[in-house]
Amino acid sequence: MTERTLSIIKPDGVARGVMGEVIRRFESEGIRIAAMKMIHMTQAQAEGFYAVHKERPFFGSLTEFMSSGPCVVMILEGENVIAKNRELMGATNFKEAAPGTIRADFATDIEKNVVHGSDAPETAAFEMGYFFNNFEIVG
Ligand code: ATP
Ligand code: MG
Repeated sequence: MTERTLSIIKPDGVARGVMGEVIRRFESEGIRIAAMKMIHMTQAQAEGFYAVHKERPFFGSLTEFMSSGPCVVMILEGENVIAKNRELMGATNFKEAAPGTIRADFATDIEKNVVHGSDAPETAAFEMGYFFNNFEIVG
């Protein structure tokens, strides 16, 4: 089934110069980029995005990090792209991420883990709508 998901190259990924490499991995898997832009969130905007985590102990640090510099936000489209993107990303903790995944190759910290990807159709719908309107998504 063709589906869409939200991907973010987090501030550490942008700062370390791996934007191109992350996008290359998506393209080489046949994933289509249906929308893309660079943004620099305020902490309040990051809090809105990560609202599901507001009770977690790392919420303040995570939203400070996510607003510390520019991010690239993208809508990815393809067959089972939600799961496929999560596979390409690797586990949240880079020490547990499978070899060859984005986080295993580039992450430096459990928080500074280079990429975000929606984890289910419901979260993908919310997250895509958080950053993009219909005119910004190309068919
Ligand atoms: P993401 O939602 O960013 O794609 P994920 O779904 O793999 O990552 P979540 O459990 O949703 O992981 O956590 C969201 C983000 O919060 C993580 O990507 C990471 O940046 C940060 N995070 C998660 N767990 C911790 C932790 N124990 N300590 C610090 N930061 C954490
Ligand atoms: Mg998550």
